[in-house]
Order: sequence, then C-alpha cells, then structure tokens
Amino acid sequence: MTITLTLSPHSPDPELIRQAADVILRRGLVAFPTETVYGLGANALDEEAVAKIFHAKGRPSNDPLIVHIAALDDVKLVASETPPIVKTLAAAFWPGPLTLVLPKQPHVPASVTAGLETVAVRIPSHTIALALIHVSGVPIAAPSANRFGHTSPTTAAHVIDDLSGRIDMILDGGATSVGVESTVLDVTCTPPMILRPGGVSREAIEKVIGRVELRDNRPNLAEEAQASPGLLGKHYTPKAELVLCKGERVSALEKLSELAKQARAEGRSVGLLLANEDIQSFASLSCISYPLGSANNFEAIARNLYAGMRALDDKNVSLILTRDFGEQGLGLAIHDRLLRAASQII
Ligand code: AMP
Ligand code: MG
Repeated sequence: MTITLTLSPHSPDPELIRQAADVILRRGLVAFPTETVYGLGANALDEEAVAKIFHAKGRPSNDPLIVHIAALDDVKLVASETPPIVKTLAAAFWPGPLTLVLPKQPHVPASVTAGLETVAVRIPSHTIALALIHVSGVPIAAPSANRFGHTSPTTAAHVIDDLSGRIDMILDGGATSVGVESTVLDVTCTPPMILRPGGVSREAIEKVIGRVELRDNRPNLAEEAQASPGLLGKHYTPKAELVLCKGERVSALEKLSELAKQARAEGRSVGLLLANEDIQSFASLSCISYPLGSANNFEAIARNLYAGMRALDDKNVSLILTRDFGEQGLGLAIHDRLLRAASQII
C-alpha cells in the first residue's frame, strides 16, 4: 500500500517529515517533490533499498541514480574528491537543478552508479526534499518517480498514476516549479561536460566557470551513450504518438496545421502541445489544446511540458503535435526532452 501525505511546500509539518524519514531508514521508498520533478528516494548507502527503486520503476540497472544531499559538506559522503570547481559551482547554483558527476567513494553501492567509478550528486532547492534528507541523516538516491521511459512526474497525482501500490509513501507538496530534470555536469574532465541539459542553462554555467562542452545526446547516438545511460534513445514518452516539428515558428505552424487537418479528416483526436500564441492557427480544427505559456517564456514551457503530455494522454488523443522552441538557455533542455519524447521529427 502507498500512503500519501500532504505537506506545505514551504513549511512542511516536522512530524510528517519524521514519518517519511522513518520509511527511508527502514529501507523503504518515498516519492517527494524537488524543484525539478518528483523524485523516488531511498537511502543511497543501502544497496537493498536502492534495488527497490529499480524494481518499482522498471528501470534498467545500467541507468545510474542521482544522489541528493542537504549540505555542501556532505559531498564527501559519496564523492572521494571535492575539487575546487565543486565549491565554485555550489556557491553559484546550489541548492538548485545542477547535478555534478564526481569520482565516487568506494562505499557507494555499485547499483547507485550503474557500476561507474563516478557518482552524480546535487542539493535540491525544495524545502520538503531538504527536510527529508536532513531528518533521514543519509544521502538519498532518487531518480524521477515515474515508470521507466514514461514522462517525468511534476505533481503527486502523476506519481500516483505511475507508482501507486509499488512504493511506500508519497509526499504531496504540490506542482514542481522547474518542471524538467537537473542539468548533469561531469566535472571529472577538462573542460567539464554537460551530459544532460536541464534546469541550469549552459550559458549560466559558462558565466561562472568558462567554457563547457555539451555531449551530443541525439537519440540516434543512444548506443554510444553508455557513459550516461539515462540518455538512452527514446525516453520521457507520452502514450500518444508525438510529432515534433523543427524549424522556425511560422513554417512549423504551417506544417503542423497540415498534419492536424489530415489527422482530423481521418477521425483522429489531435492534441496540441504548443505556446499560447501558436494555438490560434488551429482554431477551426477542433483539436484539444494544452497551452504551455508564452513562446518566449521558457520557464513556463519547461514547467508545463510534462504535465501537458500527461494531460493530453488523459484525454486519449492519438496524436500530439508540438514544435521546437530553440536551444537558447532553458530552451536546450526543452529541445532535448522533446527530441526524446518524439515518435517522429519533421
Ligand atoms: P533521473 O534521476 O531519472 O533523471 O536519472 C538520472 C540521470 O543522471 C541518469 O539517467 C544519467 O543520465 C545521469 N547520471 C547519474 N549518475 C551518473 C554518472 N555517474 N555518470 C554520468 N551520468 C550520470
Ligand atoms: Mg528519469
């Protein structure tokens, strides 16, 4: 049975946090909100507890987990070195959606790191997450709290949809604010390399530490991406067929309108995952729209992206039409997730 506790995201009830920490310390699984997406947490130093995460999610064992800590000093609990660049990045971005890949401590279970000699670690910026880690007194390994391959959860209801009955507890702290996962930055190499774009932009990182590289994560390079296996091909996928249209706005909307017209003529139910101002071009086609926010507001688009995919799936659309919003700033993370969610890219 899965117990759901509702907590204030700003001042969570200490007694409820205590109950959740007890579950963690008894080798259980607790889903909790972070600022990015909901995580599925277990004691990162307990191999048996960590194994339950993989089982509950149906996650392959070659996909490493992110370890969540509550203070910079605790990096040393899981990483064998804390190079100066960690302090610089932590001062700029922690707590926040930046995960750092570092050489691991020998006592971190191999299952956490998928057998790699490195460990991924971050301090999340969410009062409930920080309280849970703090009161548990252990680092908490937590991938996204969804069934493997499915769209990541940004509300407790999403977690319930995917994992109810498979985990011990869900802490409901409302919708998450960033909406896409953390940026994963490997700082064991020079220059550091972004393994997964996410909530902290490349531009923001480069302002602090200078040039970083960006791993080529296009889905067709999946087989080669074993060094960061979460980047395997198709991921974050809704149930409906998702068509992503690249290119500039006006021609993308023209192409998508054509597709919508065709699909409607075939009697298909069509969902639009687009910016507010994009949706007008489809007015006469009776599609089901999910406005993501204004086209230049990447924060809103990122925050609403996964919720939009799930909402359209709930309405049983058979086709979701979306477009690319560019690769600047947070746009890069949105671009990466859409590429991976897409059945077809045109
Ligand atoms: P999730 O928590 O579901 O967003 O998945 C965590 C992701 O972090 C993984 O899928 C990897 O892409 C990345 N990651 C975690 N640990 C490492 C590591 N040691 N080296 C490289 N990438 C990692
Ligand atoms: Mg995930």
